Amino acid sequence: MNAEDIAGWLRCEDRRKLEELWERADRVRRDTVGDDVHLRGLIEISNFCVRRCAYCGIRAPNTHVTRYRITDVEILDCADKAVELGYGTVVLQAGEDDGLTRDWVVELVRAIKERTGLAITLSLGERPTGDFVAWRKAGADRYLLRFETSDHDLYDRIHPPRPGQEGDRFSRLRLLRDLGYEVGSGVLIGIPGQNFDSLAVDIALFAELDLDMIGVGPFIPHPETPLGREPSPPVADQVPATDAMAYKVLALARLVCPESNIPSTTAIATLDPDGGRATGLSRGANVVMPNLTPDRYRVLYEIYPDKSVLSETSDVCRTDLNAQLLELGRRPGRGPGNRTGK
Ligand code: SAH
Repeated sequence: MNAEDIAGWLRCEDRRKLEELWERADRVRRDTVGDDVHLRGLIEISNFCVRRCAYCGIRAPNTHVTRYRITDVEILDCADKAVELGYGTVVLQAGEDDGLTRDWVVELVRAIKERTGLAITLSLGERPTGDFVAWRKAGADRYLLRFETSDHDLYDRIHPPRPGQEGDRFSRLRLLRDLGYEVGSGVLIGIPGQNFDSLAVDIALFAELDLDMIGVGPFIPHPETPLGREPSPPVADQVPATDAMAYKVLALARLVCPESNIPSTTAIATLDPDGGRATGLSRGANVVMPNLTPDRYRVLYEIYPDKSVLSETSDVCRTDLNAQLLELGRRPGRGPGNRTGK
């Protein structure tokens, strides 16, 4: 499928044709990665951030955020919880926080590995090469870094680089791959200024980058950010930031990258609280990332408002999830859930 075909699907509003897309995505998912749904326990370890991303609620200039950094002891407790709940992976995510020093993360990764043997995914933003090298050596298995959009001008507008540096997530993704990480990336859907052709190029790029993991979700406006505050000038062919559009992107991601691990994301469930998670799983996704962040921190990791998991405790998440998977004829994956077929 080339970018033109993909753009055709993104524009498609014909329900019958879309049914065909959902079925194709679900079939490819079943034939390649099977019925296992891998569970990754998400721990949001810090909401400090030095960046000024125009979409993100924890951007540095937002003075209304109470900032936190979880202690290593608390993180290890969360990792124990992940084991108890039967998850195979923990994902450590944060703002781009220089306070999470290279050595501290090294020790943390070692400690989690030693104690639990879980697979470890890091999602800590754009960090110096030496950090990526040291964390991989310490035992980190995977790294998530969405490129958000491949449109350079749009990217620079919504994701201003650090002073004196060039913003190039593609070179970071290549580096991560060379270091032996499983690499995850993805995009925001419906960023003001994003048009259909540009989103179609993004999806074609998933295949070109040979991503091991693909995370996509609708852009959700946060009132304390430039993109959430200021009305954007209308763009021809603007992609809507809807759950309907997110399902198309999910299904197309599965078709272009049949073997990737693809989560049904929280942002989708936020826009479609009743059925979002299950619908994602039946339209291409094979991963869920239940939130393990302790409640008192979780409310402060507000990258966008009304995150669907805010009121759930980890245990409720798990019970709901098991019932949901059963209903869908799926089952929780065992083990680390690495990318298949490599
Ligand atoms: N600091 C890390 C982790 C960021 S949070 C990094 O930059 O990689 C993970 C993802 O949340 C981001 O990559 C972005 O795609 C998504 N996100 C941020 N703000 C959002 C918003 N307002 N609506 C929807 N998704 C958002």
